[in-house]
Amino acid sequence: MGCALVLASGCADKTPPARAAESARTDGADIIPGLLAQISEANLRRDLFYLAKDPLPFRKANCTLPGHKRSTLAEADAWITKRLRGCGYKVETDVCEVQAFGCDLTKPRHHTYAKPPPGAPFFTVHNLYAKKAGRRCPKEIIMLVAHKDSQSWIDSPGAYDNGVGTVALLEMARVLARYPSERSIWFLWCNEEHKPWTSVIAANNCRQRGDNLVAIFNVDSLGGKSDEDIAAGRKTNVTLYTAPEGKRLADLMAEVNDAYRIGLVQSSYLRPRPGDDDGSFVKAGYPCAVANLGSYPYVDSAYHEAEDKPERVDFVNVRMSTQATLAAVLRLDRAR
Ligand SMILES: [Zn+2]
Repeated sequence: MGCALVLASGCADKTPPARAAESARTDGADIIPGLLAQISEANLRRDLFYLAKDPLPFRKANCTLPGHKRSTLAEADAWITKRLRGCGYKVETDVCEVQAFGCDLTKPRHHTYAKPPPGAPFFTVHNLYAKKAGRRCPKEIIMLVAHKDSQSWIDSPGAYDNGVGTVALLEMARVLARYPSERSIWFLWCNEEHKPWTSVIAANNCRQRGDNLVAIFNVDSLGGKSDEDIAAGRKTNVTLYTAPEGKRLADLMAEVNDAYRIGLVQSSYLRPRPGDDDGSFVKAGYPCAVANLGSYPYVDSAYHEAEDKPERVDFVNVRMSTQATLAAVLRLDRAR
């Protein structure tokens, strides 16, 4: 059996999602629902409160709690690493140098970040990776990405942005820990609220090594949505794509949402240009990169504000969006 699922141009087999769908079943039984059922809302909640309230109020390179030796971001890294090791993963890192953004309160609400002021200090931060090697097509890599840092220019818990993506990846890594994947599945936790974005370093490293990334899912602000959608009880997910290869992943998100009756109001949106951490991969030559988030344009009323707290998070929506992302990953993994 050849290894040639690939959504990127220049790849041998342009497996459409429909074919990926058929091959999710082995001997007539689809194992995906059982794995989706293991995504735990309680775990997502517990982990988010840990990383965005107590004991860690923030995840910032430029904020160290009184009496602590490491920054809140380094403490979050240590905790994520410990959790991953507990699931049996080896954790790899990239070492990066970043600055905190400046804060310009004359700028519009939600967008008060500014260039780091002259002489702003540099901090050493890390990308964290947990990697599963595929048993049939180890060179084909499905990448899940979430930025784990909170806003460096203000004191915000960054619960939706992007504590939820951070814990969604952790939960998927836990559920997949003993799953024998056909392709390689990599989890990447990067930093996007400091400058420069460390997903750029990750993407460039992949490009330099010639890694064959066949799909990249950036998971950012899952379930973050308008007050109107909250009031209406809507569970939303938008998949942003930049290139035709990404549109196939957006279509796959819609398909698995229906096939597994996840219940999201799922939509997709063509970005006018590459953006966010998926954009770092598109710019590095991986067009098969998308982002899942709760709304677009992003309309959470607490976006980039101190009020972006875990108490406001719709964990049912986060769980559903995590399940849909996992379903898409598994469909791709199991496609012939
Ligand atoms: Zn942000």
